[in-house]
Amino acid sequence: MIDATGPELLVLGGTVVTAAGSRRADVAVRGGRIEAIERDLSRLSGAAAKVVDASGLLVLPGCIDVHTHTRVASDAEPDRFYQDSLAAAFGGTTTFLAFNNPGTGSSEAAHRSILTGIEEFRRMTASDSAIDYALSPTILGGMDDPLAELPAMVDAGIPTAKAFMVFDFRLADRSIFEAMRILGERGGMLEVHCEDPVLIDAAVEAALQRGDTSPRHHAATRSAEAEAVATHRAMAFARGADAPVHLVHLSCAAALRHVAEARATGVRATAETCPHYLALTDARYEEPDPLECAKSVISPPLRAAGDRDALWSGLAGGDLSLVATDHVPDRVAVEKGEAARGVPFNRISNGAPGIETMLAVVYGLGVATGRITLERMVDLLATTPSRRFGLGRKGAIEIGRDADLVLFDPAARRTIRQDDLHHTSDFTPYEGLEVVGAVRSTWVRGRAVVRDGRAVGDRGEGQFVERGVVA
Ligand code: MN
Ligand code: MN
Repeated sequence: MIDATGPELLVLGGTVVTAAGSRRADVAVRGGRIEAIERDLSRLSGAAAKVVDASGLLVLPGCIDVHTHTRVASDAEPDRFYQDSLAAAFGGTTTFLAFNNPGTGSSEAAHRSILTGIEEFRRMTASDSAIDYALSPTILGGMDDPLAELPAMVDAGIPTAKAFMVFDFRLADRSIFEAMRILGERGGMLEVHCEDPVLIDAAVEAALQRGDTSPRHHAATRSAEAEAVATHRAMAFARGADAPVHLVHLSCAAALRHVAEARATGVRATAETCPHYLALTDARYEEPDPLECAKSVISPPLRAAGDRDALWSGLAGGDLSLVATDHVPDRVAVEKGEAARGVPFNRISNGAPGIETMLAVVYGLGVATGRITLERMVDLLATTPSRRFGLGRKGAIEIGRDADLVLFDPAARRTIRQDDLHHTSDFTPYEGLEVVGAVRSTWVRGRAVVRDGRAVGDRGEGQFVERGVVA
């Protein structure tokens, strides 16, 4: 029998990490929340329903991945959403945000109305997720009247939405500006995909006319300058609208300079980068096999080594505020197979998987190498995403917050291999990458989802999180 007076979970002897510091401490969980953090809570061992020995391990707040394109279940693939949510838990993520853009299983009706899309997403995912999750709708250019729906969206606990400056579903510039203002007035925030459509569309057309249709030409048509000029405009829009803005998947030094300058002069901008920009470079596009090359068809594309180094400096110095994955569970055997059939690069599905490997890459290539501190990593992967995306109950090991916890072995060494992953993609961009550190166990609101490397949770235990205002 569980002693009703004891905690449901007691984590003893670990090193508890917060954005402010690390210390040896025990953690008690009751009612799904962190009840106590003290040097010695061993007196509660007898009454606790579950005691975990964390000696030699780090106790981290679960990562919050604010950028995924997880697919909802379909008749043909009923486990797609569940399996990727479970994969996230294996990687140390306890909450993720999904976009419902075309390609994720959203309906035509959802592509015309934000509120229809919200209702549909919640219905289709209600009993599927292994971990907690939320929605950040995409505002598409073809929608009937998306700006009019934004106040009701915020009221429904969804304070953020994403707009694209590029692609055929991009939002008109004036609507991007107005969306920033409307959301900002209500405690919400627009997320923007910054790439300039004039420069990119012209470059794509020219490449296709030259007959440069193979996947490796994708990167050459999406320059750092095209990202930088769009980023500069987004900063000007945010200043003009007097509204907060979040830049998704920032990939290059040129764009980062505009963010740094805007932040220094009062613009309420934050920017994220992604593990692939921190680990990989555009050398991947020299790969002669088109199918292999198609794995790196992502937007923005992989950049030069100098950009990668600038992003690490931005994370360490504060110009970049968080890391998120831009997870797209594409498969070589399915979506990316277009490349092998000679489909031009501009019509190959964009994206690569990452929902399970974020902590591995950021710890292994960042903390273990001294590029960022452990505490900064926790800030980038959990605490700032929580604050910035209205997830105030999550993102830190603090009394009263949700007990979203990860036991992490900082001494483990592993090689990332597709064969060992759980996501619904059939490849990982990090195949063969040797990293230090490994996730041992993951809890969401005190419930074990992964224990000692094995799935132990139940499908549907993850809850949709209605979020509060951004900060
Ligand atoms: Mn994007
Ligand atoms: Mn994306």
